[in-house]
Amino acid sequence: MVRYINIRTGARVELVDITSRVKEVVKDSGIGDGVCYLYVPHTTAGITINEGADPSVKRDIIQTLQRLIPRDAGYAHMEGNADAHVKSSLVGASLQVLVEEGELLLGTWQSIFFCEFDGPRHRRVAVKIMGT
Ligand code: ZN
Repeated sequence: MVRYINIRTGARVELVDITSRVKEVVKDSGIGDGVCYLYVPHTTAGITINEGADPSVKRDIIQTLQRLIPRDAGYAHMEGNADAHVKSSLVGASLQVLVEEGELLLGTWQSIFFCEFDGPRHRRVAVKIMGT
């Protein structure tokens, strides 16, 4: 069964920490050992794992992506959000995290971030836990 985490983003570009919400889905699944698949069904958003303890890491990721992929750079796509499509492909639309004894096997400093590149919007992340 697929569960969805609904997210309301508040800025055009934003990293939203969804770790606690993913942990809830894992807990509700009742699965002890397995894999947690996370999938973003959007073309201008992504998902990544990185440090959640220091908020400046999140800010550096956003600023670096903005510098590498500016909003206006002579793109062919005429919707005005070509930069968001490129960022989405670079960051990626899916993740897998191992689940052991009912817990996500994340490192001490790791958090799961939904990456908004063309907000604010209503978004969702599909979650599937497979027992092994
Ligand atoms: Zn577009």
